[in-house]
Amino acid sequence: MSDLNYKVIIGLEIHVQLATQSKLFCACPNRFGDEPNSNVCPVCMGSPGTLPVMNKKAYEFAVRTAMAMNCEIARYTKWDRKSYYYPDLPKNYQISQYDLPLSQNGNIEITVAGEQKKIRIRRIHLEEDAGKLLHEGNVGFSQVDLNRTGTPLMEIVTEPDLSTPEEARVFGTELRTLVRTLGVSEANMQQGQMRLEPNINLVITKDGKQYKTPIAEVKNLGSLRALERACAYEIQRQLADWEKTGVTMETGFKSTRGWDEQTGTTVLQREKEEAEDYRYFPDPDLVPVVVEKDWLDAIRKSLPELPIARRARFQTQFCFSEKDATTLVEDRATADLFEQALSLGAPVKVLCNHFISFWAMHANQRGVSIAELGVSAPRMASLAKLVGDNKINNTTAAALAEKLLTCPDDPADIAQRENLMQVSDASSLEKILDEILIANAKAVEDARTPGKKQQKAFGFILGQVMQKTRGQANPQVVNQLLQKKLAEKN
Ligand SMILES: [Zn+2]
Repeated sequence: MSDLNYKVIIGLEIHVQLATQSKLFCACPNRFGDEPNSNVCPVCMGSPGTLPVMNKKAYEFAVRTAMAMNCEIARYTKWDRKSYYYPDLPKNYQISQYDLPLSQNGNIEITVAGEQKKIRIRRIHLEEDAGKLLHEGNVGFSQVDLNRTGTPLMEIVTEPDLSTPEEARVFGTELRTLVRTLGVSEANMQQGQMRLEPNINLVITKDGKQYKTPIAEVKNLGSLRALERACAYEIQRQLADWEKTGVTMETGFKSTRGWDEQTGTTVLQREKEEAEDYRYFPDPDLVPVVVEKDWLDAIRKSLPELPIARRARFQTQFCFSEKDATTLVEDRATADLFEQALSLGAPVKVLCNHFISFWAMHANQRGVSIAELGVSAPRMASLAKLVGDNKINNTTAAALAEKLLTCPDDPADIAQRENLMQVSDASSLEKILDEILIANAKAVEDARTPGKKQQKAFGFILGQVMQKTRGQANPQVVNQLLQKKLAEKN
């Protein structure tokens, strides 16, 4: 066995579609799923003589994101043309930002297995998206849909600070949560609103010598799972490749690869020595952007509590585990719903329990978020209060929760109407308990004798009371009564 170890180096490029009403340089609607080529105009179709006008909202959304990622915001930026030919790009160039991005030098913290790590952000800039080629049906040719042409795309580039596939996935998750919290994108990955491109290579140390494998860039990953799998595959592939050929960064080429979801492998698309010549030059049709300090101050003031801070607060203030806090905060509407119910007087422990047990379960079963279940904060609060006030137990609460999904009434009204309120009244419970004790002399005997059978007999008697009361007896009250009765009979 030779002495070999390696370090993984991953950087990410992420494209996020911004949720503006209109496109980046024209007034066409920025909407997914419409009839092909219905949201187009001479500007986004690249007709000669048309002039682009920048969408200020898109710029603001990118600035919001950059601020949340602790980036320096440029006071002066410009637009550049990135020239290339492709059927989904009618102008033959894409408007982007080359040497003066709107922001750079930021960072974001991620937590992996309880450890915090700072990932540096190299730059965030804005550009327009291209259209889409459709290869549908067996028609023998491809069709072009230009609805997406010119929609605002935010590109986020990290430094190569990620060192495991898991870290890459966590970073992607964090970013998705962040842009959703900021309200700048829905980041729906199935609809291509967030696309990931990792750059991966290895630094191998063998017998005291270091070797760097050529960088591979995996294009257009459409899910966080694909990102993690593609990175893991690349590590093994590059390691095997190096062991077989010994090709390094110095002797080999940088490559662009695609991801094959079916086989779980990356496929070589092209090798290149240098970046293609995109012939970048400033777009003469657009004026440079000069940003006022007052405008930036106003944006900064409008930033909501960021996911990292909110998650930490959910853990310390409400005793959620890291995992549960992460899940809750991932959807801002759900986290807001929780805090609304709390402000309406729901007892915090009970509400936490409801959120991570049955509300999460119903949301999972329906493939929606808890906020999308359609149960309002007042009704969730009311249900939690019934438990907090000992009027119902958690079993009844779970049954009531299911009813709330289809019935618009307040849980307290349903509980009254259906006679579900918990029996805490000692005298009526005592009567029931007495009958059970008389009918089960053997269990009473066991319950009084210390030993193995004692616990079992105790449980049996409690179970009998629950059965008689259809699960509505307050277990604490029954427990106290039973202790008292057994002591008396001694
Ligand atoms: Zn247009």
